[in-house]
Amino acid sequence: MRTNCPWEDCTQGHGAYHRAPFLLIANGLNRRVPKDRKRAKYIAAFVDSKPPMKTERHELQEKLAGRLQRALVQLGREESKELDSQDER
Ligand SMILES: [Zn+2]
Repeated sequence: MRTNCPWEDCTQGHGAYHRAPFLLIANGLNRRVPKDRKRAKYIAAFVDSKPPMKTERHELQEKLAGRLQRALVQLGREESKELDSQDER
């Protein structure tokens, strides 16, 4: 898989792809050396601190939720218009 999307902007579900290099570094550290153990901990925390990558499915869900919200607002408006005009009669 070739990609250079920044982690923060990733919407492709490249989770493993983005984490791999950090895990490689972490695994290459010598856990018997205190300084390396510290680094491994730091890398793990760094990887955890990255936002979860959005998948296309998430984006679709959000888009749909937004459209549903707008449809409900419009429906509410039409409905109140309808009720108002009934009152006038
Ligand atoms: Zn990505």
